[in-house]
Amino acid sequence: MTIQFSNSRLLKTALFSLLLLTSIFVAACGGPPGGGPPRGGVSIDLSARSADELAAIRTTAGLDISLFMDGALAEDVTTEDCTLSGGTETTCYRITLAGYPANHETGPFCPRNLTDSAEEGGIWFDGNGVYDLDGSFIAELAEFYADENWKLYNDDGSIRVTDTEEAFDGAARPNVEEQYQNHCVEGRLEWLPNGEPITTTLLIPTTPVPAEEGTAISRINVGLTLNGVVIAAPAPVDAILSAYTIAAFDDCGGHYNPNDGYHLHGARGCSEVGEADHGETPIFGYALDGYAIHSPLDHHAEDHAELDACNGHYTEALGYHYHANSAQDNAVLNCLTGEISQ
Ligand SMILES: [Zn+2]
Ligand SMILES: [Zn+2]
Repeated sequence: MTIQFSNSRLLKTALFSLLLLTSIFVAACGGPPGGGPPRGGVSIDLSARSADELAAIRTTAGLDISLFMDGALAEDVTTEDCTLSGGTETTCYRITLAGYPANHETGPFCPRNLTDSAEEGGIWFDGNGVYDLDGSFIAELAEFYADENWKLYNDDGSIRVTDTEEAFDGAARPNVEEQYQNHCVEGRLEWLPNGEPITTTLLIPTTPVPAEEGTAISRINVGLTLNGVVIAAPAPVDAILSAYTIAAFDDCGGHYNPNDGYHLHGARGCSEVGEADHGETPIFGYALDGYAIHSPLDHHAEDHAELDACNGHYTEALGYHYHANSAQDNAVLNCLTGEISQ
């Protein structure tokens, strides 16, 4: 399947729906690492780019290591030879993320009682909206998802939360164990192996290389945040909801699973660095292809930004960079336009 490079919002929506469909069946939220092919099944045709456009994009500088927050990286960044997805032989940074946000604590995730306010819970997003996880959201799930099998609370008003390591392991996975259905699912740092954050090592091209074909993000990680966390593929919302679970995010758009530790699914402004120029938003991370990821644009700015099918655009001040989707889309980015490390 080929999708023409275009600024049409309709096309972006179509592409996004396709990616969501392909992502339903993968284990973004709890599958074992390293399974299956690294690329999605959708190709994105980038051939409509003009030579001038490409020449401008090629001037984009690579990742700026000085932007990482203190504590975001578990090891010093090194450089090594690497071969990229389009066959380009170049050098890559080897970056090992600390796996825990350098600038904030994680949580809260699930509320504990139907009377709890939004402050006592995190958020949920399902591709349609972002919702505060307060007690009344939990109380109204059956109505909200039009399915009377939903009941995440006991008759005394307490909410059924995965409150042991065993329950977390049984529920924070695509095939939720039956006894943990109808639970609000959350994890804790102390339940990870040795009670430590899970570090992740990524190879990122030192200079981004525009690709001839885009890479769809259905099961690969998207990139990394400047506070030291992996930006993951979309959460498998349909699998989560079909088990009558809510895989709660904290207000920063991240949550735990036993294999990946704390990881991010939605851009919520928690790892931004620096100020933004007029019509722009601050950088908060980098994609696997080495291009910067900035916070979402508001609708007015987006109308002027001429974002491409992967939410990227070139500006003289910033070079080529992406703008994250809003968290409600459950996809920080839908695709990448640069080559990525094999
Ligand atoms: Zn997840
Ligand atoms: Zn921009």
